[in-house]
Amino acid sequence: MKPTDTPSTTPLRPQAWYNLPAEQVLKRLGVSEQVGLSVADVQTRLAQAGPNCLPESPRRPTWLRFALQFHNILIYVLLGSAAITALLQHLWDTVVILAVVLANALIGYIQEGKAEQAMDAIRQMLAPRAAVIRGGERLSVAGEALVPGDIVLLEAGDKVPADLRLLHANRLQIQEALLTGESAPVEKHTEPAGSEAALGDRACMAFSGTLVTCGQATGVVVATGPLAEIGRISHLLSGVETLTTPLVQQMNVVARWLTLLILAVAGLLLVYGHFVVHYAFTEMFMVVVGMSVAAIPEGLPAVLTITLAVGVRAMARRNAIVRRLPAIETLGSVSVICTDKTGTLTRNEMMVASVVISDLTFTVDGAGYQPAGNVNLENQLIDTANHSTLAELGRAAALCNDAALRQHQSTWIVEGDPMEGALLVFAAKAGIDRDEERRTWARTDAIPFDAKHRFMATLHHNHERHATIYVKGAPEQVLSMCTQQRIDTAATGRLDTHYWLDQANAISRNGQRVLAFATRAVAPEQALLEFSDVQGSLTLLGMVGMIDPPRPETVEAVKQCQAAGIGVKMITGDHPGTAAAIGQQIGLQNPNRVLTGLDLDAMDDAVLKETLKDVNIFARTSPEHKLRLVMLLQSNGMTVAMTGDGVNDAPALKRADAGIAMGNKGSEAAKEAADLVLADDNFASIVAAVREGRTVYDNIKKVLSWTLPTNAGETMTIIVALLFGLTLPVTAIQILWINLITAITLGIALAFEPTEENTMRRPPRARHEPLISGALIWHMVLVSILFLCGVYGIFAYALDRGYPVELARTLAVNTLVVMGIFHLFFIRNLYGTSLTWEAVRGTPVVWLTVAAVTFAQFAITYAPPLQKVFDTQSVPLLDGLLIIGIGLALFVIIEIEKQIRLRLFSFHRSSLYRDEAQDPCDKAAGR
Ligand code: ADP
Ligand code: MG
Repeated sequence: MKPTDTPSTTPLRPQAWYNLPAEQVLKRLGVSEQVGLSVADVQTRLAQAGPNCLPESPRRPTWLRFALQFHNILIYVLLGSAAITALLQHLWDTVVILAVVLANALIGYIQEGKAEQAMDAIRQMLAPRAAVIRGGERLSVAGEALVPGDIVLLEAGDKVPADLRLLHANRLQIQEALLTGESAPVEKHTEPAGSEAALGDRACMAFSGTLVTCGQATGVVVATGPLAEIGRISHLLSGVETLTTPLVQQMNVVARWLTLLILAVAGLLLVYGHFVVHYAFTEMFMVVVGMSVAAIPEGLPAVLTITLAVGVRAMARRNAIVRRLPAIETLGSVSVICTDKTGTLTRNEMMVASVVISDLTFTVDGAGYQPAGNVNLENQLIDTANHSTLAELGRAAALCNDAALRQHQSTWIVEGDPMEGALLVFAAKAGIDRDEERRTWARTDAIPFDAKHRFMATLHHNHERHATIYVKGAPEQVLSMCTQQRIDTAATGRLDTHYWLDQANAISRNGQRVLAFATRAVAPEQALLEFSDVQGSLTLLGMVGMIDPPRPETVEAVKQCQAAGIGVKMITGDHPGTAAAIGQQIGLQNPNRVLTGLDLDAMDDAVLKETLKDVNIFARTSPEHKLRLVMLLQSNGMTVAMTGDGVNDAPALKRADAGIAMGNKGSEAAKEAADLVLADDNFASIVAAVREGRTVYDNIKKVLSWTLPTNAGETMTIIVALLFGLTLPVTAIQILWINLITAITLGIALAFEPTEENTMRRPPRARHEPLISGALIWHMVLVSILFLCGVYGIFAYALDRGYPVELARTLAVNTLVVMGIFHLFFIRNLYGTSLTWEAVRGTPVVWLTVAAVTFAQFAITYAPPLQKVFDTQSVPLLDGLLIIGIGLALFVIIEIEKQIRLRLFSFHRSSLYRDEAQDPCDKAAGR
């Protein structure tokens, strides 16, 4: 039947599929299992069925999002005040208050938009892919591009990309909790289910969104997008949460309580000012409103969210995709990174370089995945026809293999596991025609590779009624399954385990990954492959060694970690020799101390906990070991980042403080369990993410360290005047103005601060270090006092010179703003001195905001219409310089204070201002 025939469009009741035999399903969908759909088919079907994704839940309309910004206690208070001032006919006050309200809503709105953009970008990057057969080729396509009739390949760890009718299932188990609520995985097969079968009993179906926990399968897509079963679930599952972290949430709560507290204090002040000091009520009311606005950190939550959004983007730019936002914070405090080897520290671009068959060692040359190159023996090109065991090994490499090679323009690429790709290339170099072999030796069953048992086996039948098993896997594993070995002339002898283990060690010492191959003939009627078929009865064919060079950037990244006080531990399933060699190449400490999975099993927790402190390489581990290592490291007080790619890595990833999944070779199961997904699987990206994590945390701290003291300073200015019945050095409308202008400029600048120069030369921050520390409170007190001195100082000076009170106030207002600017420059360098050219030069964002504030200040100081509104007068040049001098003085005082405190309390690790001078790592780095 031609694929474009009508049956594909015949509306089928969804329940019909599980109830039909597989062949009928294929027939109705108009597709053959071997060839799949053609490109043209896919296009027409995509046009009919639409993309394979669930409709997005409707976004809140723009106007509503904007309107919601006004839903906030402070805004209510301000709106109330605006109404009252309007009634009292203080129209300009009303206008300024409304401007403050509007500015606030705008910041909130923009911040939300930014946050949403950041999250959208991330969702895009996490979009799943699916392995399909189209036009007779194995391809990887975006999950969204699937259409009914597509042939999909599933393996352990995959997320089922659409509703599938299974065609083949090999030990397939799927976790369907999403649809059925049942958390235990269910076994799947291909027999049709009865028409009455409930969703959970339709064992021949795999449903979109569920997770393959074990086994392999092929299935044909029967329903996509909203027509799939998952489309019936009303709540949408998004891959990423909204933009908040515990820290920011905490700050929101603090900000809310602070608002209430301030409003209460404001009420008291109003009563006190009016009845005790006998200020006029109207004036008093305005002053109290101004004070409240100054004191309440209304912009803080928005600015913190912007800081996070900036961080999320910065990480995404460095290929680290944040799935759970709290990870941003944890990443900054990571003290040990446990990483995979293959593909993370190394390139995962493999090439078979050596082959050992009985007593002969062949070398293989060539480049990349191009299936061209030679097999040599003692530097002499050989003819594979004279080496029948080599040819047999090549056949095993080609058949016991799930990957495919594809030529894309001039380069060859692998679909599937790069290691298996390398084996296909090797087979071709050894003269094996892959497609030919596949046709003659059809695969009837397989035991898929699992990191737990470290081998893979396949069963093949040819047309002459011969049946053979091929096994490939880790040498120790395969050797334990063999009793005999093949010699070069195809004769068979007794297995010399010692000899082969020595060979494996020798190959691995060069950093090559070793793989052993074995085979066995079986009775032709055998159609199923069981574990018992491969145990203890195989004949060893030989071993291959594969090079997988370290990524060049790894060495630098490991160095950075060491400077940053972060331990790096390699946890691999690979051979200890290979692991040690790679560890040496990338500069891990103690590369010769390697613990294997067996060593780990032999140690009890207490011993292992101590041993962990100086062992950095763990080889031949299985996924369970990762979980144990994470827990023990955590009990040593470490904050652990752990990478993983397989299904079985999920528990360790969940348990780790920062679970990191591989974006390319990682399974969907690992990605779901992870906090962070690496788009390029690269170790250097983890380090970059840690750096960004530290930056975000620093910036959050900077935002707080600037906002809180500045607010406190402004507030104190007014409170002091009220309490002592002094003339107000700034009027209510002026304080409102200062808040308006600084909140939309200076307050936001710190969210965009770049990484400080010594960020990766500091030890990691303690896990539970409080954000609002004693040092920050002291800083608030100090800055408030200095603000008071500055404002009252210049006010007194002006009155003393006989200036009118309006001019004195204009000076005071400008002094407040200038002190805010200088304070900002101080805060930009929490950890280093601010007196460097780098520090003074600042960033474009900082200068932009400073320019904006300066412009605004000039406007209200010198522009006659604004002078009328704000009751200001033009400031003489000399006094203007004096104001800048006061700002500078503030800067110098707090900078000196920082330096003194650093030297006095340099042992105090959790202080707000840690300086490079006290860091042991810096000393080590020779700074
Ligand atoms: P790593 O930690 O380096 O990613 P894995 O857990 O993937 O290691 O693999 C562990 C060992 O299992 C490898 O050293 C290799 O000997 C064997 N192995 C890996 N992949 C396969 C496969 N597809 N088939 C057979 N054996 C494999
Ligand atoms: Mg692996």
